[in-house]
Amino acid sequence: MAKMLARLDDKERRRRPSDEELVARARELSVRYLDGRARPSSVRWSSNQGRRWGSCTLVDGSIRISTRVQGMPAWVLDYVLLHELAHLLHAGHGPDFWKLLDGYPRTDRARGFLEGVSFFQDGGSMGDPAQDD
Ligand SMILES: [Zn+2]
Repeated sequence: MAKMLARLDDKERRRRPSDEELVARARELSVRYLDGRARPSSVRWSSNQGRRWGSCTLVDGSIRISTRVQGMPAWVLDYVLLHELAHLLHAGHGPDFWKLLDGYPRTDRARGFLEGVSFFQDGGSMGDPAQDD
């Protein structure tokens, strides 16, 4: 069993991009879906995001992605990155914000995926969804 878990750990590790790869991915996503307008000063993994999947600091343009996203499918990570990149252009969660994400075809699917993860990780409680800012 321990061996199997160790093997799983190896597999998971390969699916976890480094901070440098995170920066490169964010740049690609910004160019592809936001006309390159979102230019974060830094993008890095963070283990103290609480229940948030990611956050951004508008004053310095930095983005942090929760280490809880590590090991999730690439299209979920892309959504979380794109969500925070869009916040650099629009702070709230109004229609103008979601319009920025229109071009990303898996927004709804990724949101559903993350809601499902929250549901199970938070002991199956609904009505207090994990924050995503
Ligand atoms: Zn948000």
